[in-house]
Amino acid sequence: MPELPEVEVIRRDLNETIVGLTIDSVQARDEMVLVGVTPRQFARRLSGRQILDIRRWGKVLIIELSGGVCLLVHLRMTGRLYPVPADQTLPDHTRAVFHLSNGQRLLFVNPRRLGRLEIADSNRLTEAKMLQKMGMDALSDEVDEQVVGEMLRPHSIALKQWLLDQTHIAGLGNIYASEILHRCRIHPDALANSLDPKAVRKLLRAIRRVLDEAIKWRGTTVSDYVTGRGVPGAFQKRLRVYGREGKRCRRRNCRDTIVRTTHAGRSTYYCPRCQPVPR
Ligand SMILES: [Zn+2]
Repeated sequence: MPELPEVEVIRRDLNETIVGLTIDSVQARDEMVLVGVTPRQFARRLSGRQILDIRRWGKVLIIELSGGVCLLVHLRMTGRLYPVPADQTLPDHTRAVFHLSNGQRLLFVNPRRLGRLEIADSNRLTEAKMLQKMGMDALSDEVDEQVVGEMLRPHSIALKQWLLDQTHIAGLGNIYASEILHRCRIHPDALANSLDPKAVRKLLRAIRRVLDEAIKWRGTTVSDYVTGRGVPGAFQKRLRVYGREGKRCRRRNCRDTIVRTTHAGRSTYYCPRCQPVPR
């Protein structure tokens, strides 16, 4: 959290608000969130560069700057990234401040300090620490039935766990993995290599539908997430299983109750009737 939809909403918001502006100066207030540079080096390498575009790969934001440099932002659990007017007081846990040419400040706020900022060369992006080993983006056209079918084959682990591994498909986390599996009616413990082509097709359709819907509703706020405009999302009201232990399944004609289990120490929610135990 935030996962792909939240990062995508932030990307779209920032594309409207900060692209075209120049970073006049940078205050890196916490060295711990910087990858491989000191606060001084970080500020020096970014100051004076114009913001050209903002892209996304999985859960990583790629802010493309003039001069062939990118700023990569990984929000991890509690990160927030949004612009504020010059006179607004900085919130607690502001780890970096980017002073922009329109007088606004872009804030990187991160209470748990797990988020990261990394500078990378535009033409050597895949060498960046944050993007090394990163699988295909979950919304990329490359994610098709044949490719994913082949990727699943060597893995006799629970599908839920397979989906969380960013080296396979990038962008899914704990919330959307549960939602996706409920949508395609596959039990979270089904083994990744047990899916037949029809099940793979259902899974991919569910990935796209759940992510598209979540983006449309501007992401899920269960704790810290805010959009690129600094306000909460609305998809939390539409979650079908995540966080709904003991509540009625939201599929029409299903009267069963959502249960919670754990996979690798993380909560998984599913409906025992819609998602039968695999044989
Ligand atoms: Zn159900």
